[in-house]
Amino acid sequence: MRVLLLGSGGREHALALRLAEDPTVEQVIAAPGNPGIAGVAELREVVATDPEAVAALAVEVAADLVVIGPEAPLVAGVADALRAKGIAVFGPSAEAAQLEGSKTFAKDVMTAAGVPTARAHTCTDEAGTAAALDEFGPPYVVKNDGLAAGKGVVVTEDRDAALRHAAECGRVVVEEYLAGPEVSLFVVTDGEAAVPLLPAQDFKRVGDGDSGPNTGGMGAYAPLPWAPSDLVDDVMRDVVHPTLAEMRRRGTPFAGLLYVGLAITADGPRVIEFNARFGDPETQVVLALLETPLAGLLHAAATGTLAEHPPLRWHDGAAVTVVVAAEGYPAPPRTGDVITGADRPGVIHAGTARRAADGALLSAGGRVLCGTATGPDLAAARDAAYELVRGITLAGSHHRGDIASSAIDGRITLPA
Ligand code: AMP
Repeated sequence: MRVLLLGSGGREHALALRLAEDPTVEQVIAAPGNPGIAGVAELREVVATDPEAVAALAVEVAADLVVIGPEAPLVAGVADALRAKGIAVFGPSAEAAQLEGSKTFAKDVMTAAGVPTARAHTCTDEAGTAAALDEFGPPYVVKNDGLAAGKGVVVTEDRDAALRHAAECGRVVVEEYLAGPEVSLFVVTDGEAAVPLLPAQDFKRVGDGDSGPNTGGMGAYAPLPWAPSDLVDDVMRDVVHPTLAEMRRRGTPFAGLLYVGLAITADGPRVIEFNARFGDPETQVVLALLETPLAGLLHAAATGTLAEHPPLRWHDGAAVTVVVAAEGYPAPPRTGDVITGADRPGVIHAGTARRAADGALLSAGGRVLCGTATGPDLAAARDAAYELVRGITLAGSHHRGDIASSAIDGRITLPA
């Protein structure tokens, strides 16, 4: 089959690698892609958030399957435009993507479906926000209600900082703080059948020991040696199937990738957020361990035949990815610097570009590259990922030094 992949980040590079490897895939076309993706796909230009432009491109390249990487095209209705043309697409409708696009919508669905999550209030003015902050107490959690590319959340002990963030956002969701280690669970679904991938953990804060501001994600690992053995079954039963049923009941079935962000609290798993697409950088580690061909799986979800898909097969061992970020990130980063050491297997491109004059590889975003490696266990995978990172040179860049360390050292404990 011919697969059109939308997006240009590390997630899309990881997807492109696995799609290109699938024996049923004749050609991957990526739009706009990046220099890493160019190694396995033909690149095309498109405004990814323009539904008609994407649909026209899918027709032009005779795509049998379109895989939508980022959230913005989903919320813009790109999947709807493709379905209207009869093209198989992996990604939810604009209405279903509101599970990610609006925190308030997601809370409504969770409440209706009886899904365990933090108590929350939507607030639009200072008095309402202040009352909600005082009801839940510190640490304060204030979330921008709209799409914020993973950066709209402030978790702070500082009540004034919480109020300032709310004032900057306008409409926010203030919620109760959930204490416990976090898990990202990806679920492939056609709206009815649902197949969980391996749970992973990502690292949202910029600095070692979870210090500093939130980012899009600075690294990830899978599997989770500390996770309760029944975690995935419990989340499928208590979260995923009730949520999918509620979306069907509303007449807006969710088909695509349901990303369940969880905290494992003393009272059990609680949903922190839903996303409507693969997470970045967890995708890099989860797909590194997936043995089942990816295009067949996503095509089954896109065509409503997931119930007939064979059970997933996984490689033994573990995977770790470490993000190399540009100077300044997560504030507006320095870009345009020459990178060396990126042309090695396992180096995933996230924010890179080629200089037109000489083809040199340049930094072009906040998260620039991800060193991704597998190994027989987490320690081996971590060491191999850091080996890749040490081989990269980029002036001013930074990365976390402790990705997967707490899991390897047995320092992650579940609240009693
Ligand atoms: P979100 O964009 O909703 O995933 O939030 C980003 C990050 O903020 C999460 O990965 C958590 O680390 C943190 N966070 C969000 N909501 C909560 C909560 N209710 N309790 C504790 N931490 C939270």
